[in-house]
Amino acid sequence: MGAVPKSKVSQRRRGNRRSHNALTRPHLVICPKCGRPARPHSVCLECGTYKGMSVIQVEEE
Ligand SMILES: [Zn+2]
Repeated sequence: MGAVPKSKVSQRRRGNRRSHNALTRPHLVICPKCGRPARPHSVCLECGTYKGMSVIQVEEE
C-alpha cells in the first residue's frame, strides 16, 4: 500500500534524527592576491590564483 509510517515519530526521536542535520558555515581564507575570501586549498575564483600563482584566466569586468 505504499511507504506509510506505521506510527507517529515522537518529538524525541525526531529531534535525535535531526541532531545531525545542522549546517556549518563554509570555511574561508583570505586570498593573498586580491584579499577577498576564498575556499581553502582551492583556486581563488575572484582572481584565478592559487598560492600566489596564476592558474586560470578570470574574465575581467
Ligand atoms: Zn584572489
